Amino acid sequence: MIRADAKVLLEVKGLRARVSGVEILKGIDLKVAAGEVHAIMGRNGSGKSTFAKALAGHPAYEVSGGTARFEGRDVFDMAPEERARAGLFLGFQYPVEIPGVSNSAFLRLAYNTVQAARGREELDPLEFDDYAREKMKLLDMDPAFLDRSVNEGFSGGEKKRNEILQMALLEPRVAILDETDSGLDIDALRVVAHGVNRLATPGNAVVLVTHYQRMLGYIVPDYVHVMEGGRIVKTGGKALAEELEARGYDWVRAAA
Ligand code: ADP
Ligand code: MG
Repeated sequence: MIRADAKVLLEVKGLRARVSGVEILKGIDLKVAAGEVHAIMGRNGSGKSTFAKALAGHPAYEVSGGTARFEGRDVFDMAPEERARAGLFLGFQYPVEIPGVSNSAFLRLAYNTVQAARGREELDPLEFDDYAREKMKLLDMDPAFLDRSVNEGFSGGEKKRNEILQMALLEPRVAILDETDSGLDIDALRVVAHGVNRLATPGNAVVLVTHYQRMLGYIVPDYVHVMEGGRIVKTGGKALAEELEARGYDWVRAAA
C-alpha cells in the first residue's frame, strides 16, 4: 500500500557505475518509500544486476556518478557490511558457496551483527537454532540445511530459499532481491514469494529485480520499472509487468 506520507527509505539519483572500465549504469533514479514493493525488470544485459551490486558495494562495480541515500545516510560512504548492518539487504542472483562454514554459524554471525547494531539482544547457538527453525518452518525449509556448509551442494532453488531465510532472519528495512525467482520450480516460487510478502510490512520495502513476470503473480508490486541500456526507461504500475509479459521488451525500447 502506498501512503502519501510514507517515509523515503532509499533514494538513488543519477547513479552511474562502471565494470572493467565500461560504463554500464548511465544515470538511475529510484525512490523507495516504506511499505512499497518495486519491481525492476528488463532484458538480460540491461544492467539490473549491476544496479543491485553497485548498491551492495561489490568491489568490481565502480560507482562513477550520482548519489544513493539509505535512511538519510550516504550509501557509498558506508562499507558493504555497514550497509547490511543498517538494514539494506541484497539477495544475489548467484549466491556464493562457503565450504567448511556451517550455515547456522554463518547465519547466526550475520544475525547477531545486525542485532548488535540495532542495540538488540544477541542469541547464543541454541537460542539461534530455535529462532532459525521457526523461520525455516515458515519457509518450508528442512532444518538440516542449518548443519550443512553455506550453500555447498545446494540446488539453485535451495540457494534461493537460503537467501530468503537470511532475509527473514535479518528483517531488513529494504531488501533488494536479484532474480530470486530464477531457477525455482512452482513450489519453491510460492515459498519464496510467501517469505517476501511477510517482509513487505508498512515499515519496510522490497525491490524485486526480475526478468520474468511470474514472481509478480505472487507479489504485487506498487511500481514496475523497466531498465534498458543502464537506464530506467519506463515506470508504471503492476499492469506494466503484464504488458511486458504479453509484448516482450522491444516495444519499450522503441518507445524510449
Ligand atoms: P542484467 O542483470 O540486467 O542481465 P547485468 O547488470 O548483469 O545485466 O549486465 C549488464 C552489462 O554489464 C552486460 O553487458 C554485462 O556483460 C556487463 N557486465 C556485468 N558484469 C560484468 C563484469 N563483471 N565484467 C564485465 N562486464 C560485466
Ligand atoms: Mg542479472
